[in-house]
Amino acid sequence: MAADGQVLYNHSLQIRVGILTVSDSCYKSLLDDRTGQNLKDLVEDEARFGGFVSVYKIVPEEMDDIKETLLDWCDDKELNLILTAGGTGFAPRDVTPEATREVIEREAPGMALAMLMGSLNVTPLAMLSRPVCGIRGKTLIINLPGSKKGSQECFQFILPALPHAVDLLRDAIVGGKPHHGDLDNLPSPPPPPTPPPAPPSLRLTVERGIQCQGHEEVKKDSGVSSTEDSSSSHNTSSVGVKQIPEGIVSRGVQAFPRESASLSSTPSESPRAHSTSRFSTASCPTPKVQSRCSSKENILRASHSAVDITKSSRRARAASFPLTSMDKAFITVLEMTPVLGTENVNYHDGFGRVLAQDVFAKDNLPPFPASMKDGYAVRAADGPGDRFVIGESNAGEPPSQTVMPGQAMRVSVGSPIPCGADAVVPMENTELLKESDDGTEELEVRVLIQARPGQDIRCIGHDIKRGECVLAKGTHMGPSEVGLLATLGAIDVDVHKFPVIAVMATGNELLPPEESLQPGKVRDSSRATLLSVIQEHGYPTIDLGIVGDNPDDLLTALNEGIAHADVIVASGGVSLGDKDYFKQVLDIDLNAQIHFGRVFMKPGLPTTFATLDTHGMRKIIFSLPGNPISSIITSNLFVIPALRKMQGIIDPRPTILKARLACDVKLDPRPEYHRCILTWHHQEPLPWAQSTGNQMSCRVLSMRSANGLLMLPPKTEQYLELHKGEVVDVMVIGKL
Ligand code: AMP
Ligand code: MG
Repeated sequence: MAADGQVLYNHSLQIRVGILTVSDSCYKSLLDDRTGQNLKDLVEDEARFGGFVSVYKIVPEEMDDIKETLLDWCDDKELNLILTAGGTGFAPRDVTPEATREVIEREAPGMALAMLMGSLNVTPLAMLSRPVCGIRGKTLIINLPGSKKGSQECFQFILPALPHAVDLLRDAIVGGKPHHGDLDNLPSPPPPPTPPPAPPSLRLTVERGIQCQGHEEVKKDSGVSSTEDSSSSHNTSSVGVKQIPEGIVSRGVQAFPRESASLSSTPSESPRAHSTSRFSTASCPTPKVQSRCSSKENILRASHSAVDITKSSRRARAASFPLTSMDKAFITVLEMTPVLGTENVNYHDGFGRVLAQDVFAKDNLPPFPASMKDGYAVRAADGPGDRFVIGESNAGEPPSQTVMPGQAMRVSVGSPIPCGADAVVPMENTELLKESDDGTEELEVRVLIQARPGQDIRCIGHDIKRGECVLAKGTHMGPSEVGLLATLGAIDVDVHKFPVIAVMATGNELLPPEESLQPGKVRDSSRATLLSVIQEHGYPTIDLGIVGDNPDDLLTALNEGIAHADVIVASGGVSLGDKDYFKQVLDIDLNAQIHFGRVFMKPGLPTTFATLDTHGMRKIIFSLPGNPISSIITSNLFVIPALRKMQGIIDPRPTILKARLACDVKLDPRPEYHRCILTWHHQEPLPWAQSTGNQMSCRVLSMRSANGLLMLPPKTEQYLELHKGEVVDVMVIGKL
């Protein structure tokens, strides 16, 4: 026991950890610090972290006490890791984050984000905790909530990255600059394991020796698992400000990168040339490429074969993918996606297709001189005056009579001009002089104007000349273009093939919507949503149904999709849960190339994209988060543009327009896609974008009636929110 009341442990294990409990109640010995005890057990558990708690202290909820201890432990004791517990809530005396922020030299927002994301899946009360994570010298400081349960969960959430994070800060790691690749294990919350009971010899006690109930009962942290929601973390500058990947954003605007307009369909090495860890050489672009670097680098394979992947703590560490920025992910999808070959289709099937050939006119249009008005075909040289009406030129029949001087022939819009006539005088510029006895025929009319030669006549080839290229290769055909094919008599044309898309939903908890609910089950809605999104764009789909969370079934379904489709879209199974096998099956069993497995976006973080080159063809595979909201958003952002590229659309990017915000919107550390309804008000040039309300990704109602996605930039220190009336970019995802 040190003189200042700290408990010191003189072990020489490598990862030296300090546990700092911040609690007035524990400090006054009113409560036993069960949280600190539990954290010690977790830290020292060999199966988890295998660290060593070399110092432990309880301080009151005072800035100076917290800061003083942190400084001592960082600068003098040079600990590798400090876990604070408590003082992260909203109460006036909750000042641990503030004290920590004054001590740290660099923030580590990814760790705070990981805790937030995980905790919010456990309880919305996580919004009420405000952790700061950061680095001072070689010490990593993590703020955990004060409750035993919350601190344990948060510890679990950051555990996948913790050993590596500590290693990067230690002398042993030369040039170990943290990279996004090191943050790639931001986990979905694994179920928090129950810590083993601490052996009596390791039980933490302070000098006073009081054993009591743990301090969570009186903590303002409310016993919540963690901190602020990524969606409600706008009150702190501690998260996500400096770690945002290369910018695609300016204030209020996210842009889809222009480079995507010039897209290669050439298979190439993954763009992810990240240094992934101390094990990595400079370029191990993908898990697949990593696997060629060394056995240690092949994290994914190792996880599948050598390690018992049913142990959640091990699996979470194993699924290693860098956080890819939104623009990079988007460019990667388009670059890796091939343009499909061509086929010959009947013009009836031309709607929505992209022409793979120029279409030339084999005839003139009109093929004969045609009247543009209802009136009389005359000889212009006759001038104004009276005419004998010699009959009528009927549509569809070449006129048999010739108009002689002093004569006129009745014509209507589109009817052939008779020989001899060179102008049309509209009906309103004439007077009836004489009609037949039964009143059905005009016999004589008076022309009231001087007609010009050629007046109101479409001459032969006026609209389209024979031999002219009317529809160019690359034309995306709508109703008018189909009509033009018909006009030209272009009955069969070469077009790019439509991709066929196989859709599956993965998850043991899923039931077909037709079935009654059972305990623990939910109806599968993502599959129906995805099928509809794809069908809305006209593409043929194959429904692969619901697939269980096990590698064999996933592989079978994937092979089925690969055999019959160009694209496989799966929902679910890409998080870091025990049953999330999808990435491993893609990589190990299918030998597909995973181009990214995490995207810095909200929602949609686990979005995964892979390609498989087989039998001279490239199949593309999207594995989207299972949540229906996430899957609809990511399918609009990634899948639809890819399908559009496949079918030959030259600029496959989605439609983005400007709109005014109808309400204030808080920004998130990640670029966010916020569901909204676009409406146009009378005489206003820009539409208004009304949020659909709470954007929690599990709230399916936030998608109801949405026809746009606000493309919100990540928050910065300067801009925490956007205000009503500001102009933002909105991606169109539904009928306007
Ligand atoms: P996952 O992406 O598999 O981790 O799933 C995330 C959440 O979405 C879980 O709450 C799932 O139960 C839910 N979910 C996954 N797939 C579907 C689906 N097809 N339909 C509805 N909810 C789903
Ligand atoms: Mg699942």
